[in-house]
Amino acid sequence: MLVTFEPGQPSRCTHLDAIKPVTPSAPGCGDCLSIGMVWVHLRICMTCGHAGCCDRSRNRHARAHHERSGHPVVRSIEPGETWGWCYLDDQLLPPAKQTHPSTPPGSGTPDKGKKTCSP
Ligand SMILES: [Zn+2]
Ligand SMILES: [Zn+2]
Ligand SMILES: [Zn+2]
Repeated sequence: MLVTFEPGQPSRCTHLDAIKPVTPSAPGCGDCLSIGMVWVHLRICMTCGHAGCCDRSRNRHARAHHERSGHPVVRSIEPGETWGWCYLDDQLLPPAKQTHPSTPPGSGTPDKGKKTCSP
């Protein structure tokens, strides 16, 4: 499975060159799997495909991978989530287009139980 991420415009992030089509390194957080831990959400490194767990997970392997490798951008590969995150800018990278545009832009239906994005 090839994972791609196309950030929307405009973005102040200057690390978009690091984004490439990647193949996930594992079906879950490989680091958690190897130590028998569980995770909350899965993030994937858009430079090398490292799959790691989010900041709400106990071990924060996605952030640990960023700190070890310097790879700046991850995206969520949770179902229905297409946004990315730049660790260097500490900034959300909205996707260029929604995969399932259920509401036209500007119709302004607020999400019930609005999800907050975090790396
Ligand atoms: Zn950036
Ligand atoms: Zn993990
Ligand atoms: Zn990486």
